[in-house]
Amino acid sequence: MYPASFHYHAPTTLEAALALLAELKDRARPLAGGHSLLPMMKLRLAQPEHVIDLRKLPDLAGIRATDAGLAIGAATTHWQVESSPLVAATLPLLAEVAGVIADPQVRNRGTIGGSLAHADPAADYPASLLALEAELVCASIKGRRVVKAGDWFQGLMTTALEPDELLVEIRVSRPPAGTGAAYVKFPHPATRFAIVGVAALVTRDGQGRCTRARLGITGVGPTAARLPGVEAALAGTALDRAAIEAAARRAAEGLDLQDDRQATATEKAALAGVFARRALAAAVARSGG
Ligand SMILES: Cc1cc2nc3c(=O)[nH]c(=O)nc-3n(C[C@H](O)[C@H](O)[C@H](O)COP(=O)(O)OP(=O)(O)OC[C@H]3O[C@@H](n4cnc5c(N)ncnc54)[C@H](O)[C@@H]3O)c2cc1C
Repeated sequence: MYPASFHYHAPTTLEAALALLAELKDRARPLAGGHSLLPMMKLRLAQPEHVIDLRKLPDLAGIRATDAGLAIGAATTHWQVESSPLVAATLPLLAEVAGVIADPQVRNRGTIGGSLAHADPAADYPASLLALEAELVCASIKGRRVVKAGDWFQGLMTTALEPDELLVEIRVSRPPAGTGAAYVKFPHPATRFAIVGVAALVTRDGQGRCTRARLGITGVGPTAARLPGVEAALAGTALDRAAIEAAARRAAEGLDLQDDRQATATEKAALAGVFARRALAAAVARSGG
């Protein structure tokens, strides 16, 4: 099906894009890679009067090192994240996540900012960015503000982004020394979206004890979420098999699990536990344990 007709804008400066958004607000939708917006428009699930193409904006794509870690431009494609030597050296977890999104065609067009603004409940980045405690930088003609990843996902495909704002950058800090990280997913066989995906980071002290654990999960609820029960259960443990299994049994605690056409709530609870265990085992192995 063809999308409903719309006015197309291709601003060449961020200021011009923000001025358009300030004027048009929710009558307009930004266009990044188009791999979520265009299918929605063709299905008439989205019918914006105006589409603001972000692809001619300078500096919206790219990855740079910061004192704390990395700053990733919102229009950076999944492939650029997957293949970046800077990401591989600084935050390899993000390269691992980007590399399991969909297929090469989607990864070459889809962007990290588009994924986070779209906030599909089965998208891959959200679990890892929650676990990494990333910060998302939004811009409007009024200025910039920083939103913590934990405050970003507010409901099913609903984020903290205001209608006159663009997501411009994602800031991620380097985890502490002694951290191992992994992302493990159970992909849908057709789309590769996550039926469940768990990102885990564990940090050990000199004696091998867990000083810090951060886990994020995607796919099983209306939004990605942290796994606070698992994180608490790991604190101070030796991160051995028994500790991992005991902690992973708490994966479903506090999650908003509902039956859908992918799985029942009971199945999702089981998947959460299994994939938390697998992600933790991989993260522990990479932490030198
Ligand atoms: C066949 C298929 C399989 C897929 N499989 C997966 C998968 O396995 N895992 C996964 O995570 N994703 C998957 N995706 C989704 C893919 O990652 C998309 O690229 C992503 O969700 C949207 O990014 P985009 O750049 O294409 O955004 P677009 O489609 O251009 O935009 C998506 C939404 O975000 C808004 N937006 C875009 N950029 C900004 C910005 N900078 N500021 C504010 N709003 C903005 C748009 O207005 C729109 O509402 C799949 C998509 C397809 C088509």
